[in-house]
Amino acid sequence: MNIILFGPPGVGKGTQAERLRDNFNLHHISTGDMLRAAIKAETPLGLEAKKFVESGGLVPDEVIIGLVREVLIADQQQGKGFLLDGFPRTVPQAEALEPLFAELHILDVSIVVLDAPEDELVKRMVKRGADSGRVDDTEETIRHRLVVYHDQTKPVQDFYAKRRSLSLVDGLGSVEEITERIQTILQ
Ligand code: AMP
Repeated sequence: MNIILFGPPGVGKGTQAERLRDNFNLHHISTGDMLRAAIKAETPLGLEAKKFVESGGLVPDEVIIGLVREVLIADQQQGKGFLLDGFPRTVPQAEALEPLFAELHILDVSIVVLDAPEDELVKRMVKRGADSGRVDDTEETIRHRLVVYHDQTKPVQDFYAKRRSLSLVDGLGSVEEITERIQTILQ
């Protein structure tokens, strides 16, 4: 099983991804987590990504595509399914994935789109910022991330709607209810 979990910031992709990872024994690939780890460790990737992540912008496509490519190739060697969370986030990223899937003989990929009203997303991210201290979860940066989502990321949904089967899931409700909805679709 391979899944692309898609949706706006704050919709709960990370939370749901961890549950699906455990329930289906998948490799959870979160580009946001990878970038935050690289920033913390001050690796060359982290130093390059820091200003984009902290301001709520997007890291350049070529940087993130190279990173995901390496991880997917390693996964293929281990024979484990993947769950992509936070990637692809632009149409060029989605376009770059298609030949990579072909090269790795990855045929089945379920696209799950989680969505929730914008006021709910803002509320969740403000709470996460207060709980975790995540630097991009401040009200101003959240607003910018939502603009970036609408301008650059949302078109990825149309890209997949034309090419692959896509399932829409209501992201409002308890964590358990939402996991149940996603799992019903996947099964
Ligand atoms: P996330 O944890 O998915 O909300 O990602 C946090 C931040 O990491 C984003 O606001 C971007 O700055 C960066 N980021 C994560 N994934 C990507 C991606 N696929 N392309 C570009 N930037 C990304």
